[in-house]
Amino acid sequence: MLQYILETSVYPREPDFLKELRHVTASHPRAIWATAPDAGQLMAMLLKLVNAKKTIEIGVFTGYSLLLTALTIPEDGKIIAIDVNRETFEIGLPVIKKAGVADKIDFIESEALPVLDQQLHKHGNEGSFDFAFVDADKVNYWNYHERLLKLLKVDGLVVYDNTLRRGFVAIPEALVPEHRKKDIELTIEFNKFLAADPRIQISHASLGDGIIICRRLY
Ligand code: SAH
Ligand code: CA
Repeated sequence: MLQYILETSVYPREPDFLKELRHVTASHPRAIWATAPDAGQLMAMLLKLVNAKKTIEIGVFTGYSLLLTALTIPEDGKIIAIDVNRETFEIGLPVIKKAGVADKIDFIESEALPVLDQQLHKHGNEGSFDFAFVDADKVNYWNYHERLLKLLKVDGLVVYDNTLRRGFVAIPEALVPEHRKKDIELTIEFNKFLAADPRIQISHASLGDGIIICRRLY
């Protein structure tokens, strides 16, 4: 089914620069980290639907979701892109430059949490972001959520990636390999937390490795 979706609806519509970035990333040992193109396609739709101009990305890797966002937002749009690792960002950077969208990106090499706190302290920043994509260390998703809900406008979106963990969240705990138990448990808890958070509307989409789309309600 996934192959069908990819071949019929996703690959024929994937912008050439994104394809190129995906191919550049394919030989990286952690290529699997890159955002799934089918999830990316929905993200581009969401960015357009909310007219996203001011966005944040946590977890850049080689930049698939970043380039997708940069290609989708308007000429005067801005992305604050945070990753602890600048080296992987630099793998994709030549493609981002070639696509002519590097000016929209403010890459910050750092742990994400302190950057979000700095952003919150900047005058006029609270309630000003249209969109956020979170695709980094799962232990901090709760911390990111609290800060992002303040940074986002009412009706703004935050999308969390890897919420299905290749299906491990949905199988009996006894079948989860020992070394992954803690990590999977974190995601299970986070998914429950989002489902119970009255401040957001949610949709859990089974695309890529699972994404939860949250809309700030108030
Ligand atoms: N969205 C990317 C994939 C991100 S993979 C894409 O589409 O390709 C996860 C990334 O999160 C890695 O690059 C890793 O360096 C970064 N990361 C992990 N912990 C982090 C933290 N605490 N703060 C910022 N970035 C972090
Ligand atoms: Ca991911």
